[in-house]
Amino acid sequence: MTAGGKQENRGPKQEISLQRYFLDTLEAHGAVVDTPGYALLEALLPSEVAAALELPEEVQLAFDYEVACENPEAELVAYGSPLLDRAVGLGLKAGRIARKVAAVSTLNVPSDISAKIKKRLEFVRCRPPVLRSAGVVRSEAVLFNFRTRFISDEKQENIYPILVDTAVGQEVNYQLPWLQTMFFVTGDPGIAALTPADHCGYAKAYEAAKEALPGAITQDLGEFQARMQHFLQDEAKRLASFYRQTMVEIRQRIHRQDANEERRQRLEKKLPATQADFYKRVEDIRSKYRIMVEAEVDSVTVYVWPKVKLTLDIEHKNMRTPMTLYYNLAAGALELPLCLACHRPNTAVYFDSRGRFLCPSCAGT
Ligand SMILES: [Zn+2]
Repeated sequence: MTAGGKQENRGPKQEISLQRYFLDTLEAHGAVVDTPGYALLEALLPSEVAAALELPEEVQLAFDYEVACENPEAELVAYGSPLLDRAVGLGLKAGRIARKVAAVSTLNVPSDISAKIKKRLEFVRCRPPVLRSAGVVRSEAVLFNFRTRFISDEKQENIYPILVDTAVGQEVNYQLPWLQTMFFVTGDPGIAALTPADHCGYAKAYEAAKEALPGAITQDLGEFQARMQHFLQDEAKRLASFYRQTMVEIRQRIHRQDANEERRQRLEKKLPATQADFYKRVEDIRSKYRIMVEAEVDSVTVYVWPKVKLTLDIEHKNMRTPMTLYYNLAAGALELPLCLACHRPNTAVYFDSRGRFLCPSCAGT
């Protein structure tokens, strides 16, 4: 993890500023924060913040493995570290991270749930599933809005939302349109009383969101790269034609200086120098159009919604495989199972010989 959120872009890869998140969160909680070095943060924490984060009041945080090794007194912060989880929890308490509870009319399992499953999913090469159990649970999804900048000779800034289902710890952006159909309240005692669903932890959710970001920006970044490439080619062409012309002129002058040996030699030395100058200018243009990608979390919303947890038995050849599905009561929609290999949602349910759920393309059917 490199803090500062900056790195040269070689393909659609980027860094997210974890350090920035800590800096903002700690300052918002009254801490005195300083950045004494690269990927290093020094903070004087109010005692209640220190207690919430389980840190001493005077603390150094490192956001890079090597920096942590060089500063053994510093605590390394990385995705997956419990400290990050506690910091996200701190943000939640202070309202820096919004929490929205879905407003629902019923907390009952729909009576036609089996029909809904059969309508939405296609079970490939296995018998229709048997519903074993259905219970309503309180589930969460976290929406991370990433402010992302493509920086080159031009600058382009966009917000990319990544929705992560905390029950599975995976990106579920296909559910983003569902949010438009929902109403939210600040709390609901009925939902609060439900059994909580599995939860991957906020740090894992953050990690999943970060992993999904390159996919979310690919198209825009590709278009940006193509535009910069086009400008680069244009400038390089103009430059090449200018230098070609210059070389021709020098050669013509050499030709005319046959009688004057000294001047001729001086002009001949100009040729390689002009060539070198040309290469240097081309390199300048390349660096002008080099692309950097910066990304940071702009805002986070935790959505709380009731879901029906469904356990199905799938009979496949001689095997019986249990499968868990969720029906989102706030969206009135069945969630799609995620392929174990590509993590993409799929309406076709296929099991390989080991009883693992794969999408048909990963299964090679
Ligand atoms: Zn797949």
